Amino acid sequence: MRIVVPAGGTGGARFVRGLLAALADSSGTGAPGEGWTVTVIGNTGDDLTMWGLRVCPDIDTVLYTLGGGIDDERGWGRVGETFTVKDELAEYDSLPTWFGLGDRDLATHLTRTALLADGATLSEATAVLAARWELPGRGVRLLPMSDQPVETHVRLVPPGEDAPRLVHFQEYWVRWRAEPAVEAVVSVGAEDAVPAPGVLEAITEADFILLPPSNPVVSIGSVLAVPGIRTAIEESLAPVVGVSPIVGGQVVRGMADKLLPAIGVDVSAAGVGLAYGPGLLDGWLMDTSDAADVDRVAAAGIACRAVPLMMTDVPATAEIARQALALGELVEQ
Ligand code: GDP
Ligand code: CA
Repeated sequence: MRIVVPAGGTGGARFVRGLLAALADSSGTGAPGEGWTVTVIGNTGDDLTMWGLRVCPDIDTVLYTLGGGIDDERGWGRVGETFTVKDELAEYDSLPTWFGLGDRDLATHLTRTALLADGATLSEATAVLAARWELPGRGVRLLPMSDQPVETHVRLVPPGEDAPRLVHFQEYWVRWRAEPAVEAVVSVGAEDAVPAPGVLEAITEADFILLPPSNPVVSIGSVLAVPGIRTAIEESLAPVVGVSPIVGGQVVRGMADKLLPAIGVDVSAAGVGLAYGPGLLDGWLMDTSDAADVDRVAAAGIACRAVPLMMTDVPATAEIARQALALGELVEQ
């Protein structure tokens, strides 16, 4: 069984962790990497260069979450993290101080940056990092969406300025806490980018494609913005089932509610499912609190079910993954 999951950071990584638990639990699926594989297509739209280091926030969250190194409370960064280097940088007034690099985390960025400087592609560098977190042994292949930089920028009026301009998504998200109103979301570099090696093949050969509850605009939206990926998913013979990141009309964590209106989408589970649309989705899972909207989504031609969607712990998340696979099997018939 070959499963493909395009994923952002926290929501995507937690979903995949639950999916792995579900696959390990079910009898007859065989060993990780043999009976089944999960190919994660990581969002690199959030990537940025800080102090000369290439930082891939979503890829790192997937590595740490699946590898057992995540700070689960915070949802990003390393457990047991210290911030000595960050404090020292602040002593130098070394900008930007809004991006909190941890000491342990820094080793990941140093390794990646050194590999890239030696001529490795981002795919190759990611494979080295994934080996340290034992992803292959867990049945997971982690591919960046593209080896070319495709950075998500947003058009807004920065605090203290009076004209709109494009700023890096991380600056808007982390530095300004998503407060300025966003006029547009742009994937800078997307036109010239191609999917990373293996991405289109994985989609074409997939038995299931699952869209986790990742941010529809800046996580899944960025992956779909790489030319060829959306079409490959639309044309894939595999069932495509998505899980709503909106529960009870609200984001579960983060600030996706600020971005959905910028692309003209309702902050609701049905709104996101309908925005992905029947061209992309065969099935859509919404939370039980959104059950009243199931018929509206089904009427658009997307098989829709309401089940509990809070990823409170790994067993609860595994159950969401099982529901997604079950809906996929149903629509396949
Ligand atoms: P990011 O890159 O760290 O922002 O992570 P993602 O894009 O992968 O996921 C962020 C999305 O996950 C947010 O829009 C949240 O609403 C959603 N999310 C987080 N926790 C849960 C959960 O327990 N259940 C559901 N359904 N969605 C969640
Ligand atoms: Ca992200």
